[in-house]
Amino acid sequence: MESKVFEKLTVLGESAKYDVSCSSSGHARVNVGRIGSAACAGICHTWTADGRCVSLLKVLMSNDCAYDCKYCVNRRSAGGKRRTFEPRELADVTIEFYRRNYIEGLFLSSAVLVSPDHTAERMYECLWLLREVYGFAGYIHSKVIPGTSPELLTQIGLVTDRLSVNIELPSEDSLTRLAPQKKATAIFTPMRQILKTQYEQKTLKSAGNMKRLRPAGLDISIGDGSLADIMDREGGAGRAHSLVSDGRRRNYREKFAPAGQTTQMIIGASPESDRQIVHMSEALYRRFSMKRVYYSAYIPVASGPELPSLLTPPPLGREHRLYQADWLLRFYGFSAEEILPEDEPNLEYDLDPKVVWALRNLSFFPVEVNKASEEELLRIPGVGTTSALRIMRQRKIAAVMYDDLKKIGVVLKRARFFLTCSGKYYGDIPFEPAPLRRALGGGEKAQISLFETMVPAALGGPSPGVEALGNAAAEREAGGGTTPGATASGSSIAEREAGGGSIPARPGFGGSGSFSALVNEGTA
Ligand code: SF4
Repeated sequence: MESKVFEKLTVLGESAKYDVSCSSSGHARVNVGRIGSAACAGICHTWTADGRCVSLLKVLMSNDCAYDCKYCVNRRSAGGKRRTFEPRELADVTIEFYRRNYIEGLFLSSAVLVSPDHTAERMYECLWLLREVYGFAGYIHSKVIPGTSPELLTQIGLVTDRLSVNIELPSEDSLTRLAPQKKATAIFTPMRQILKTQYEQKTLKSAGNMKRLRPAGLDISIGDGSLADIMDREGGAGRAHSLVSDGRRRNYREKFAPAGQTTQMIIGASPESDRQIVHMSEALYRRFSMKRVYYSAYIPVASGPELPSLLTPPPLGREHRLYQADWLLRFYGFSAEEILPEDEPNLEYDLDPKVVWALRNLSFFPVEVNKASEEELLRIPGVGTTSALRIMRQRKIAAVMYDDLKKIGVVLKRARFFLTCSGKYYGDIPFEPAPLRRALGGGEKAQISLFETMVPAALGGPSPGVEALGNAAAEREAGGGTTPGATASGSSIAEREAGGGSIPARPGFGGSGSFSALVNEGTA
């Protein structure tokens, strides 16, 4: 690899590590001067829906940003090296890495180079080269720069598997204060376009063949930048709009972002409560059918009166609890209001949100495992989606005994306080909030302060109250997600890049903790 390209890759791979909307792990394999050294090239690992680990090249097209978001290392007013890939350079690097078996896919993001459309055109050019010229059929996840025109977004969606538009901050106030050039409308409009286009694609017969198919008599969103609209304006069936060259024709079966869309929120740079964040996530899942909302613990990279001090450690504990709450939303049937009611603005430091909900709702327990519905089983702390399913299956053959529960995968150190097995209760303490709280590891009821963190002992901090940081299996049983290590922790990752949320989109749902623009401006 040319040294110039290698230097760009080093700088732009490093700059991309702050974006966690593609799961990634810390990669520290160093083989200086030897074949196979990929540590500094921005290669990250992610997990597919079936649990397979894949490597992605995670890189920015450019870090030369025209915007000045106060929390960002690439902001215009920051120092540091500025580098920009030529589209062909990056396509060549990607395909060469792929041929050498370093990577199986690409995660492409970018700072705003000149303007959103200018950046998007370069990204599209690179992705088009990969798909059309090199015949690359691997996984591609592309960022959408807020403000990108609908036509360009459509083109990019047709050559990528997954798209993501970062919401960045949980409220419009914070967005205005910390990222003044970013507008809520510019963020929610592309989210809506992605949702709409996917919906249209699913509605049409032979999805994936949209450039050839225009549904007779069906007027799909004329003038709104939707795929059908763009195809129409480009001359209808048989001719795809291309910003790069009219002569370019796709020779593969097209689908618009078949792996859906994700987004990312920065946690700890602004003063929103966990309640606001969880409500916002719920609204994003329901309103835009997000596959994932990622939470990125803010790493102080800039000083200023509106930001936490440079000495503030990244709020990894808070991020971890938010992933657990997110898991409850997506897989356990909880609502944001159940996880954090009005009088509880923040998640607790010591206990995971599912345990906290159980302690708040003791009248619901104990649950009889041989009679409860699957939904009821999922409410028991220590019972995960897999163990609930296994209990349901086992019950068809014979009653589930207490000794079976551990083999089934139930985490008994939590679950035994909240269930009965054939009528017998196995918690050996009074069934009251205070003793239960103590037995489950909770101290005096304490919430995580907005900028406080639990620094893992390995990083020199106090012992975290989270027993399962880095223990993905236990977290899942607890209704928890995991902490992407890319931000700072380097811990193991079980976030599923290709996995999906389970909250169905509800077009009429306005969400309750969201930007009012999420509902109104974004639906224009
Ligand atoms: S637009 Fe993106 S890259 Fe540019 S300063 Fe803002 S967050 Fe950073």
